[in-house]
Amino acid sequence: MKRVFLIAALSFAFSCRANATPPVPTPFHVLALYSTNVEGDHVDFAHDALAFLNSIAARDHFDVKSSTNWDDLNDATWKQYQLVLWMNDFPHTEAQRRSFENYMNNGGAWLGFHVSAYNDEDTKWPWYLDFLGGGVFATNSWPPLPATLVVDDLSHPITKGLPKSFVSPANEWYIWRPSPRLNPNVKVLLTFSPENYPLGFKDVLVSGDLPVVWTNTKYKMIYMNMGHGSKIMTSPIQNKLIENSILWLGTSTKP
Ligand code: ZN
Repeated sequence: MKRVFLIAALSFAFSCRANATPPVPTPFHVLALYSTNVEGDHVDFAHDALAFLNSIAARDHFDVKSSTNWDDLNDATWKQYQLVLWMNDFPHTEAQRRSFENYMNNGGAWLGFHVSAYNDEDTKWPWYLDFLGGGVFATNSWPPLPATLVVDDLSHPITKGLPKSFVSPANEWYIWRPSPRLNPNVKVLLTFSPENYPLGFKDVLVSGDLPVVWTNTKYKMIYMNMGHGSKIMTSPIQNKLIENSILWLGTSTKP
């Protein structure tokens, strides 16, 4: 009888453990850098995206420091942040660039939107071009229009819960040459559907492989082409993609 009681007591204790509240995730810290002296539509996006981040921060256990001072890209402040966002711009000084390289080479995480990946023959930052997967800005659509995006890999943590395809709100879409997909280190996660072609009125995209979201698997990074104007944050599906990306980048270990 005692033995039965002991077994019952032990199983009760174990079931209590199993039903215990799961541990609270460790909070992580996000630095969101943006500029206000850039194209107005890019500033609008930055403000909308920051409002969204602040709305999900508590439930996703992170905090956001937003800053328009790109000198916050320095070796001292890097250690405070698990994730850095570039909302609508990129570093403009050598010191900022070197600090970013150090950060990414030592396990930092980055989420860049839209114009943050813009580069051309005047950029002269080979490390960054390699980091992005090798694509140089080739052309863009105009005016901003919605487009159907296809999810390349529904099993990736950032595409969890997304449909196979969805309509992304009005954006200015960029094409890169060569396509980052040709880089063996790049994993493309979302692609502009060919059914969108031709897209645009003033500047028309007519054909070509157009990766929209990808990661360079050598780093903890995601690039998203979305980020032009005040419609971007109006899609709950796309917002889920952004939220998933922040969680994955902010909490995963170095790839
Ligand atoms: Zn733009």
